[in-house]
Amino acid sequence: MGKLEKAYAGIDLGGTKILAVLVNGDGKLLGSEERPTEAARGQDAVIATMAEMVGKLAGGQIELQSIGVATAGTLDPADGTVELASNLGWRNVPLGKELERLLGLQVTVDNDANAAAYGEWRAGAGVGTQNCLFITVSTGIGGGIICDGKLMRGRSASAGELGHITIDWNGPRCPCGNIGCLELYASGTAIGRAAASAAAADPVRGAKLLALAGGAAGDITSRHVGEAAKEGDALALEVLKRAGTALGAGLVSAIHLANPEAIILGGGASHIGEPLLGPMREALADRVIPSMGRGVKIVAPRLGAKAGAIGAALMAKAQ
Ligand SMILES: [Zn+2]
Repeated sequence: MGKLEKAYAGIDLGGTKILAVLVNGDGKLLGSEERPTEAARGQDAVIATMAEMVGKLAGGQIELQSIGVATAGTLDPADGTVELASNLGWRNVPLGKELERLLGLQVTVDNDANAAAYGEWRAGAGVGTQNCLFITVSTGIGGGIICDGKLMRGRSASAGELGHITIDWNGPRCPCGNIGCLELYASGTAIGRAAASAAAADPVRGAKLLALAGGAAGDITSRHVGEAAKEGDALALEVLKRAGTALGAGLVSAIHLANPEAIILGGGASHIGEPLLGPMREALADRVIPSMGRGVKIVAPRLGAKAGAIGAALMAKAQ
């Protein structure tokens, strides 16, 4: 028998799938597994699946030290209770305690966006910085803030909700309760919605987008908008300019709040590239306090979809 290697497990518990990883102390990936969540089976079955996945990954020459879980929703990080997670239909589920009972090891539970920010900071694109912002632009906008070499967690582990900072204080109501949130203007969902209503209002200018979506304005998504923009479609470029400007304005507020060295910008919609990111950089340069904006690097994430699980593992290790 060789010497056992110390390892840390991380689980990203999502509404549709569960991703479990095993990393070493430096965050290097030793193994991973993905299974469907099937939340309809009930909380006990989902938690049993999570424990089973960790047990399977940690077999062999491994000395498992701790388990970290990343999940959406309102949490009590002190005891690992999920207070409310609408994507799972969970209310007051003692997730941390149950996993501890099943696995006999310390379990910590944290917000998924913050865990992804922590993962990218410790083992991905943010390595070497003391202050960085993490922002993902996909169906929604999520984020996390590393400030003075520490993840900002806040009272209920929810700090860094960059998608819900105000862009227009007279804007529409957001499902979160606030008005005129960044997410309503710059998320993939918002980009698709804006393009759909513009194409419905002017089907001649929207011809390209309508063709890509198969004819119905309501079926236009941010992916179609990105495709049309690559071919120089004026309406798509206009929609993305507006979204990119909103994103830049949101980042200005985040920079003024956290004074970062780098911004790690990822998520599906960020792959649209220049038609979205060009206007974003323009708005940033135009609006940010120059001394705070100078030298802020905007970089792509490196851990992809595993950032949350890897971050959760490393956060549990650091406890
Ligand atoms: Zn909101």
